[in-house]
Amino acid sequence: MTSIPLRDDLVGSSPYGAPELRVTARLNVNENPYRPSDEVAQSIAQCVFAAAKDANRYPERDFPALREALADYLAAESGVRLAPEQIWAANGSNEVMLHLMQAFGGPGRVVLSSNPTYSMYPEYARDTFTGYQLVARRADFSIDVEALAIAAARTNASLILIASPNNPTGTATPLADLLDLATRVRGVGPNGSDTLLVVDEAYAEFRRAGVDSALTLLSQAPNIVVTRTMSKAFGMAGLRLGYLAATPEIVDALRVVRLPYHLSAITQAAAIAALSHREELMAQIAHLRQLRDEAAAWLEARGFEVVDSDANFLLFGRFPDSHAVWAQLLDKGVLIREVGPEGFVRVSIGTDDEMDLFYRSLMEVTGGAL
Ligand code: PMP
Repeated sequence: MTSIPLRDDLVGSSPYGAPELRVTARLNVNENPYRPSDEVAQSIAQCVFAAAKDANRYPERDFPALREALADYLAAESGVRLAPEQIWAANGSNEVMLHLMQAFGGPGRVVLSSNPTYSMYPEYARDTFTGYQLVARRADFSIDVEALAIAAARTNASLILIASPNNPTGTATPLADLLDLATRVRGVGPNGSDTLLVVDEAYAEFRRAGVDSALTLLSQAPNIVVTRTMSKAFGMAGLRLGYLAATPEIVDALRVVRLPYHLSAITQAAAIAALSHREELMAQIAHLRQLRDEAAAWLEARGFEVVDSDANFLLFGRFPDSHAVWAQLLDKGVLIREVGPEGFVRVSIGTDDEMDLFYRSLMEVTGGAL
């Protein structure tokens, strides 16, 4: 018997989150391992100082300057020019997703995803009282478009969440599959509406050459929503700034459910300043991609099974006891993530030194090749 009136469906639940440990190599939450330079940090601090001087006032509720800066960034990064009215932002793409679920999910409604995938998705669903249903990915972790379209029609799904590149597998979904799925689910949502296909591109900037962003589909498919974040490639996880691109109609619906002034003036100022330094902040992406491809080749050469990745992490295995591998690596100062299918673990790509420590430690823990 408990003395607090906790919701029945939350009884026994624990807060989401990976261990926060100060170890030599923190390779567990897919951050960019390179910190901003002193010059960039100074410049951000100056903009925050200016914003702090007006902090007696509420911030701009719809943050027009930040939306414009994000639209400019997307145009430079993906070649797709969007209007600021097509951009929305919140405290991390986690909160952007929550806004989507609050506006389009809810009791009696269903959100679909394709497992294995990001483990926060069921939590957004739970927190908005939305039904959460999964359609399995194929053995190579590609999505099953046919099965997803059938499930969407059967459940009148409001939303389908597809992370591309996917977490924890790193798998990018071809644009042709996304467009096919978006087209097939038009008119199958609640009351004959279009099911929204949310493409979670948290790791998009790490994609390999020749892989395009789903932003390029927005002009053809009004039911596609693309979410992005400054937490990963941008190297600003501490800022908490996520955003999305969609039709102005979808963005307007999100404005209804957001809390007033959800993005503080401090966050807005820091994000705009960081965006103005994007070239420097993102200078290491090519190197991280190279380290990822080297790590994949290194693991494969030693007999590990490695999933093809377009992100800044690799899922690899298979271990008879993946928990033991995780724990023994931690003993050596290397923190990776226990996540994904049975027998696999996930490592985020770190600096050259961190990767060297990871390689050495993994060899010690596994006694050489598997
Ligand atoms: N989507 C995916 C697939 C992720 O892996 C993450 C972070 N782990 C997020 C969204 C959330 O990122 P943030 O809230 O920091 O923007």
